[in-house]
Amino acid sequence: MHAITTFDSAEMLIGEAWVTADETLAVQDPSTGEEIARIARGGAADIDAAVSAAEAALAGEWGRMSAAERGRILARIGQAVAAEVEMLALLEARDVGKPLKQARADALALARYMEFYGGAADKLTGQTIPFQAGYTVYTLREPHGVTGHIIPWNYPMQILGRSVGAALAAGNACVLKPAEEACLTALAFARIARDAGLPVGALNVVTGLGAEAGAALAGHPRVHHISFTGSVPTGALIQAAAGKNIVPVTLELGGKSPQLVFADCDLEAALPFLVGPGVQNAGQTCSAASRILVQREIFDEVATRMAEAYRALRIGPAVEDLDVGPLVSARQKAIVAGFLDALPAEQILARPELGELPPGGHYVAPALVAGAAPGDRIARDEIFGPVQVLLPFETEAEAVEIANGTDYGLVAGVWTANGARQFRLARDLRAGQVFVNNYGAGGGVELPFGGIGKSGHGREKGFEALYGFTTLKTVAVRHD
Ligand code: ADP
Repeated sequence: MHAITTFDSAEMLIGEAWVTADETLAVQDPSTGEEIARIARGGAADIDAAVSAAEAALAGEWGRMSAAERGRILARIGQAVAAEVEMLALLEARDVGKPLKQARADALALARYMEFYGGAADKLTGQTIPFQAGYTVYTLREPHGVTGHIIPWNYPMQILGRSVGAALAAGNACVLKPAEEACLTALAFARIARDAGLPVGALNVVTGLGAEAGAALAGHPRVHHISFTGSVPTGALIQAAAGKNIVPVTLELGGKSPQLVFADCDLEAALPFLVGPGVQNAGQTCSAASRILVQREIFDEVATRMAEAYRALRIGPAVEDLDVGPLVSARQKAIVAGFLDALPAEQILARPELGELPPGGHYVAPALVAGAAPGDRIARDEIFGPVQVLLPFETEAEAVEIANGTDYGLVAGVWTANGARQFRLARDLRAGQVFVNNYGAGGGVELPFGGIGKSGHGREKGFEALYGFTTLKTVAVRHD
């Protein structure tokens, strides 16, 4: 086994100080169950100190800095992250059980977010507005101030990048609460960012439990914006906590994303995108393609080909870098097992063999499901595990009805050669992103992302995110 290369004692960053807490929490490697580090169990007092440090940054060097200089610092952080991709990938693989190549892709995406938002920092402009004679009216895009970032364990580096990167570019000072299952790369990132010249207090990282540090951040009266990615129930708690202070929130809460596969599509092109986005990161992906809707004429062929791909999946410890690693925790494994145990056995079309695996790891054999009805739990609820459900349809109208028939609306994919149908479905599918003849566009740092319905609200990623991390001021100057 590789050793953790950066640090064994994970301290929080509050202002310029690396601090620990009275209590610590164990960090387990999901591939083996082995304890690999400990993190501080931060609480309300630490969040309060971090908010004060962020306020001091806004009142000081960070708050006075030009947008161009903020952008330069973010670009430098991006370069420093890119130079540490291997270290970050290994840390993430051990911390959350993500196969190395997926962890490496996340680290590269983190670098790219810093580069993108570094470049965008000085391009965020207001408008001048034609008004009555004797007035000049313009708008200013100003940072909210202190922004809170509560992020999950499934894509820790990517979600940190899109959230903190955009917030810093817009001139906010951040308090970050990573998930208790996934703190190591956030802390490593904070060290990299400080070394690359990020001023004191612009980014503070408080580790700890959701109900303690997370709740304290969501309800803090001196935080001006909260961005959260995670589950629907926790999103509802966070929105309610922020609502008490009339603080705006951006919520990204997952989905039950469909891909619609029409008989006229290029199936060879489609197939890798049908299985891959369902089992990537062991299915623990907000935008996982968890429902595959297939037109009846090609249903059997697609089912057979996907079943072959499922049987060939290799599962193992993250550092062995196979197709699928363990789930992040015993709790997550139990949730996924609960869904699968409730299914009639004949609905499980294909599962690979698990083979010899470390007994302490949280492995689940991916499952391809067929024969469920669109309204069944397995086809309607987010599972957050390596489970995909195949659903047949006859007509385009039926496909749209099934696709739009869940509480979620994050991402949808469409595979068809029919040009008019491509545009029609892009219009008719209820989702924050629609991909035509592709799925996910390789991650798409530049592409605004977010949901409707229970998938959440607000948009992250791309230039659009910068609007969410700013507040608009209208200035009307009267003159002769
Ligand atoms: P999961 O159930 O998979 O752990 P959550 O949505 O609960 O997903 O967790 C996502 C993030 O939300 C984590 O950083 C977690 O610590 C945090 N969190 C959990 N509960 C709360 C809460 N009550 N208030 C604020 N943050 C929370």
